[in-house]
Amino acid sequence: MNHNTPNTFYATNAFTGEPLPDAFPVHGEKEVAQAAEAAAKVARQFRRLDNHKRASLLCSIALELESHSGEIVTRAHLETALPDVRLNGEIGRTANQLRLFADVVRSGSYHQAIFDTPNPDRQPVPKPDIRRQQIAIGPVAVFGASNFPLAFSAAGGDTASALAAGCPVIVKGHTAHPGTSKIVAECVEKALQTEGLPSAIFTLLQGNRRELGQVLVTHPKIKGVGFTGSVGGGRALFNLAQQRPEPIPFYGELGAINPTFILPSAMKASESLAEQFVTSMTMGCGQFCTKPGVVFALNTPETQAFIETAQTLIRKQIPATLLTQGIKQNYQSEVEKRSSDAGINVTFSDAQSPNVASALFVTDSKNWRENSSLEEEIFGPQSLVVVCDDFEDMLTLSENLAGSLTATIHATTQDSALVEQLIPCLEEIAGRLVFNGWPTGVEVGYAMVHGGPYPASTHVASTSVGAEAIHRWLRPVAYQSLPEALLPDALKTSNPLGIQRSIDGKVL
Ligand code: NAP
Repeated sequence: MNHNTPNTFYATNAFTGEPLPDAFPVHGEKEVAQAAEAAAKVARQFRRLDNHKRASLLCSIALELESHSGEIVTRAHLETALPDVRLNGEIGRTANQLRLFADVVRSGSYHQAIFDTPNPDRQPVPKPDIRRQQIAIGPVAVFGASNFPLAFSAAGGDTASALAAGCPVIVKGHTAHPGTSKIVAECVEKALQTEGLPSAIFTLLQGNRRELGQVLVTHPKIKGVGFTGSVGGGRALFNLAQQRPEPIPFYGELGAINPTFILPSAMKASESLAEQFVTSMTMGCGQFCTKPGVVFALNTPETQAFIETAQTLIRKQIPATLLTQGIKQNYQSEVEKRSSDAGINVTFSDAQSPNVASALFVTDSKNWRENSSLEEEIFGPQSLVVVCDDFEDMLTLSENLAGSLTATIHATTQDSALVEQLIPCLEEIAGRLVFNGWPTGVEVGYAMVHGGPYPASTHVASTSVGAEAIHRWLRPVAYQSLPEALLPDALKTSNPLGIQRSIDGKVL
C-alpha cells in the first residue's frame, strides 16, 4: 500500500515491499535553492580551511558513524535487505575511506604545487615566476547509490573525497534507504558541530520525485556532481549538467559487465574456478558494480566441465532478496527476455516470490556477435559464459567490448604469449585489470582506479574510489608573479605546509 503524500514519502521494507513507519519530507526546488545558496556562502571559508582541521572533520565523521553503527545497521538492513555482517563491513569501509582522505589532506599532496622558477635574463623575453596549485571547485552534488547504502551514500566515498578537497556537499539521498541516510547525515552534522564548522558544509536532501535531482544538478551554485546508478538515470543527469549555461563536471559511474577471460591453461589447472566464479557473481546478490557479468572461455572439455560445475552451483543458490522493488522488476524482466533469446542456454536456482532466482546463461561467440543486447548489464545474481571457437576469436571479441570498470584474466605461465596479446586490448576498455582473481571487492587505497571508458564512467580520466578520487573536485590555478606574502601557503617559497613540490620539473 502506498502511504506517500505530495509532501511526505515513506521508506519501503525491502523484504516485504510494505512501507516502514516514519514519513520523510519531500524536498524540491525551494530546499535545493536554500542548501545551494548556503553552501556557496561557506565554500570559500571551507576551501581555505587549514588541512589539519579538514582532516579532523573527516575523522570526526568516521567516529560518529562507528559510534552509531548499531542504529545504522538495523535501519539499513530493513531498507536494503543486506545482511548485518555486510552492513557492518560497510561501516568499517566508510570510516576507513574517511580516514584515508584525512591522511591525503594532511599530506597536502593534493595541492599539487608546481613551480616554474623565473629568469629575468632570458632572451628574447624574461621568464615569469609561475606557481600552480589545485583548489576546490565549490559546492558539489552527490547522489547516494542504492547498492552501497553507506560506502557510496550520504557519507560515502564521493562525500568523503569532496569534503577532503574542500567542497561543501549536498547529497541527494537514494529513495531506497532514506532512514539510513538520515541517521548518517545526523552523524555528519554532529561532527561539523564538534569541529565548530558551519552546518551548510553538508546538507542531505531527500524526496521521491525526479525533479529533486534535476533541479540540484542544474542549480547555478553547484559546480560538480558525483553519481552512481543506472545508465538511463546517469545519462539523463549528465546531459542536464552539460546543457547548463555553465556546464559542470559530472562524474557518473553507470554500468559495467566486467569481462573475465579464462585461458586454456588456467581452465585446466584450477578445479575451483567455477566455484570462485559463482561466489563472485552472486556476492551481494549480484548487486555489485564489479560483478563478473560475462566470462569468455575456449571451447574445450575443461570449459564444458567448468560450465557444468557452475550450473550445479547455481541450482543450489539460496534465493535472493534484491535491494528494491524496481531493481527486482528490472532483473526479472531482463532475465526473462534473455532466457527467451535464441541460442541461449539458462540454468536457474529455485526461488519463490518475493525472492529472485540466480541465473547462469551460456552461449557461443557467434550468438554474442549477433545479439548486442547480451553486452548490457543485468543488475542482480546472473552472469553469462561465452564459449569462443579459439583464441583468435576470443581476442577479436575483447577488442570490441564497451567500457567496463574491470577486466580479468585467468592464466598460467603456459599462456603468457596469449596474455601479452590480451592485456593491450583490455587496458583500452577497463579501469582495472585483475590477474588470477575476481573483480568484486574494491580495495580503497592510493593506487585504486574505479572508473574506465563509458559507460563505466562518464569521465574517463577519473576514479570514484581511492585517494585519487579527490582530484575530481579540484581545479588548477596558476599564480603569475605574486609576491611571497600574497601567495597561498602551498606555493610560498618558505613552504610552511612542508609539502612535496615540483620545481622546474623536478619533484623535491
Ligand atoms: P537509478 O535509477 O539510476 O537512480 C540513482 C539516483 O538517480 C536516484 O537518486 C534516482 O532518484 C536518481 N535518478 C535516476 N534517474 C533520474 C532522472 N531521470 N532524473 C533525476 N534523477 C534521477 O539507479 P538505482 O535506483 O540505484 O538502480 C536502478 C538500476 O541502476 C539498477 O537496476 C542497476 O542497473 C543500476 N545500478 C548500477 C550501479 C552501478 O554500480 N553501476 C549501482 C546501482 C544501480 P530516485 O531515487 O528518485 O529514483
